[in-house]
Amino acid sequence: MPRAEPTLPDLSQYGMLAEYNRKRNFGVTPEPAGRPPEAKRGGALAFVVQKHRATALHYDFRLEYAGVMLSWAVPKGPSHDPSVKRLAMVTEPHPLDYNQFEGVIPEGEYGGGTVMIWDHGTWEPEDADVERMIRKNEIKFRLHGKKLRGSWVLVGTGDRRWLLIKHRDEAASTSDVTVDKPLSAVSRRTMAGIARAAGATPRQLAVAAAADPPRDATVSRSTA
Ligand code: MN
Repeated sequence: MPRAEPTLPDLSQYGMLAEYNRKRNFGVTPEPAGRPPEAKRGGALAFVVQKHRATALHYDFRLEYAGVMLSWAVPKGPSHDPSVKRLAMVTEPHPLDYNQFEGVIPEGEYGGGTVMIWDHGTWEPEDADVERMIRKNEIKFRLHGKKLRGSWVLVGTGDRRWLLIKHRDEAASTSDVTVDKPLSAVSRRTMAGIARAAGATPRQLAVAAAADPPRDATVSRSTA
């Protein structure tokens, strides 16, 4: 039987952060350098979603596994609507330290632009054997975040492409969480606020501001 092409990096390999480190110049970017993953002393697994206005706006969806953050770039962001399938492109695993990064990556650097910690919390794999779910291209899990809740699935469709889908449960909703809850989960800042505080260039500030929902979006929704 032909084997499906692996859609995630080889998890048995040492140095899962090599690609992360190779892409970045730590003398210039404020992002943390990747160190060899430490042995986990048990406890809950972290998840984080970072809103990132790089070349294009996307939401970096990260799940802790094997001492690193497995990462997917979700161009449209997560949706609590079970009828919506959001494209999630695999990106390089990130260090756990990255979960605390909110700020501005300088222009000209890899991923240059504003990064917001849009949501964070813990995740629970449905199958304790996470590698088996990855091999099956179907990662089922529950999220316990400030914004994202309930049961979800990531379905691999090949060539680094996955789909992020909400399961039907009490957390399902048709309202757009990216519009309803646009602020940082840790600092309550907007993208523009983060860029301004980091001393972004006028161009980066304008780009970051354009990634915030229109100021009246939430108001018009609630009065509609
Ligand atoms: Mn990104």
